[in-house]
Amino acid sequence: MISLPHISRAAIGPTLLGVLIVALALLVHPAPRPSLAPASVVAEVAPAQTTTGPLQGTSITVQWLDIVIAEDVIPPADQQAFANELEQALTYVSSRLGSGPSERITAYVGLEASCGIHGVAYTNERMVQVYTCSSLPRGRAVNILAHEFVHQLAQDRYGERHLQGDLILLEGLATWGAGSYWLSGEESFRAFVMPWLAAGTSLPLATSYVGRPIGDMNTLYYQWASFVEFLMQVYGRERFDALYVTGSSDPGSADYQGVYGKPLAELEQEWRAWVITSP
Ligand SMILES: [Zn+2]
Repeated sequence: MISLPHISRAAIGPTLLGVLIVALALLVHPAPRPSLAPASVVAEVAPAQTTTGPLQGTSITVQWLDIVIAEDVIPPADQQAFANELEQALTYVSSRLGSGPSERITAYVGLEASCGIHGVAYTNERMVQVYTCSSLPRGRAVNILAHEFVHQLAQDRYGERHLQGDLILLEGLATWGAGSYWLSGEESFRAFVMPWLAAGTSLPLATSYVGRPIGDMNTLYYQWASFVEFLMQVYGRERFDALYVTGSSDPGSADYQGVYGKPLAELEQEWRAWVITSP
């Protein structure tokens, strides 16, 4: 997810607890249309395997990325193709976001022996990481890193102020920005979450995922992406950008009233109606 500024190494472990994502099997996806379920869902994982020291592995440099691939994660014959796919993903998310990286980004691909794939972004250090294993398709790692890239691009666009951003907007933007890498063929996040809202299985937007089941976290990330999509499409990018830098971390903490002249609760009602009437 996002980086850890001004935090000592000793404090990183517990702080990371809210900022990691993991892609799991389709079976935990709550959508009533399983054929459209995503290849990745999100959940918190323990940060024990996150690497913050010197990186070990094979280095591959592409246009904007310095990629380090740990041993036994990606077969050597596939590593250059994988690196090219990461560069394509960065180009794609930059285009969706409307702004690219300000400097090079380091992408570390580590081994997660249990194959519980997950990622993290240290945006102050310009480093994104994904942990995966050789038995998982490499596209899953690309999907995760597409989301992590957007966290870096958000810092490059909004500055360090984004580190205190409203969780709805932080994770909503990173998920929305990952676009097709998270949509599993759906054309929009609006269409993706529509069945949940129609079925009454959605959650209030201002919900913390801490301590919640994986399926709830997955639901929240996609709902938040759809809410970001709604704010941009209905109210425009300028106001979204103004809103993005007003939060204080907690979900729902951004200044919705100040930017849109109405509270989150009212915007949420509008969003729900907008999703339900999705064409
Ligand atoms: Zn994230």
